Amino acid sequence: MKTREIRVGSSVIGGSAFSVVAGPCSIENQKQLMTVANHVSERGAAMLRGGVFKMRTDPKSFQGLGKDALPLIREAKAATGLPFAVEVADPSHIEFFADDVDVLQVGSRNMHNYYLLKELGKTRKPIILKRGLAAHLKEWILAIDYIVAGGNEQVILCERGIRTFEPELRNTVDLAGAVWAQQKSGFPVILDPSHGTGSPDLIAPMAKAALAAGLDGIMVEVHPNPACALSDGFQALTLENFDQLITGLHPIAQALGKKISRNGSSEQK
Ligand code: PEP
Ligand code: MN
Repeated sequence: MKTREIRVGSSVIGGSAFSVVAGPCSIENQKQLMTVANHVSERGAAMLRGGVFKMRTDPKSFQGLGKDALPLIREAKAATGLPFAVEVADPSHIEFFADDVDVLQVGSRNMHNYYLLKELGKTRKPIILKRGLAAHLKEWILAIDYIVAGGNEQVILCERGIRTFEPELRNTVDLAGAVWAQQKSGFPVILDPSHGTGSPDLIAPMAKAALAAGLDGIMVEVHPNPACALSDGFQALTLENFDQLITGLHPIAQALGKKISRNGSSEQK
């Protein structure tokens, strides 16, 4: 279905586009971010991502670069011309990112943080609203209303897998639920198969399924050297994996009359 178009810089999410959002789980250093940013940009990514204030299960693990990430975000945006999405873990982060970040992401653990959602409703930046790890579909789409009530109608939903009784994979991708949320809300829905599966081997198949099912895009984690990543290295795509993923999407996109590109209709770079 044709969803609302959310425009961010020269990129479009929704409408009839299939957009790839890509970047590292956490921004770690200049070389890591620039390597990934330049690579995914050259292959048609519509938006960059990278965590700055991480919501880690273990408080002793890497918590993110904080303010040291801001010059790196500026450099990646300048080099690629792409918009940048970062998770806001706290209302104070909205102001913190005001000048440098284009799209504010609500992480799975904060989908039910209604006071954060209300604050995001007052901003005029697009919001990526991830599904809570145990959220019902109704709760997820009601969370949109908290943002829209403040006058911000630029919401992109992101299915990132839910916690089920199945322990083999990190989460269970609810593809039907993602399509339901898209049909019910009319807002664009992207799939995050990185957190959804926790397994690089399953990311490309799930990305293809998302495209074939009519979702509006994917968000994937990419790292130049996953073995050395400071967070989520076990699920990161290498640069080569990313290329294979994009190559595999093209024939499906072509069959559907879609382009994997930043504005959904321009030529491949
Ligand atoms: C992320 O995208 O960086 C992230 C932490 O994901 P989630 O909130 O879905 O766990
Ligand atoms: Mn991650």
